[in-house]
Amino acid sequence: MIIDVSGILKESGGRMNVSGEVDLNTGEAFLGEVYRFKEPVTVKGSISNNSKSLILKAEGVGVLKTRCARCMKDIEAEVKFPIDENLVRAEDSENADEDSILFEGNIIEADEIALNSFLMNVPTRFLCKEDCKGLCAKCGADLNEGECGCDYEQIDPRWAGLLDIINEDKE
Ligand SMILES: [Zn+2]
Ligand SMILES: [Zn+2]
Repeated sequence: MIIDVSGILKESGGRMNVSGEVDLNTGEAFLGEVYRFKEPVTVKGSISNNSKSLILKAEGVGVLKTRCARCMKDIEAEVKFPIDENLVRAEDSENADEDSILFEGNIIEADEIALNSFLMNVPTRFLCKEDCKGLCAKCGADLNEGECGCDYEQIDPRWAGLLDIINEDKE
């Protein structure tokens, strides 16, 4: 997504709408996750010139193809994330602080900006539904589809090793 800001670059107080699509399917893993989107992510918002820098405020919206963290079912989850960046022309870098993004000429390349904003805001896990019952710890059955019949008490995993020892003693 290329944004041409020549219309507001010289105009303090200038503002323009931003609307476009970015492909965030990089195929690269981020902290062990590869994110796949159903279709390109839409980005809508505005850029305004505050005389020192350009302020990009937008929202990215996309549908992520992911898995339920409890039952591991494939799901599609809508994600929305804020994009809020301070953009400074490379030649005016004295106006930049450590969070500013430098750009050259009149053009802002928004793909990487959108990707970073997504990665900063993506939830660490998704659920197919709020009350997903998950999988049986013993047989792996999907408990959303009914009881599997396993005889299992809630065993604190910290005690499981101890129970093994007790059971061995009985034999
Ligand atoms: Zn689930
Ligand atoms: Zn079971």
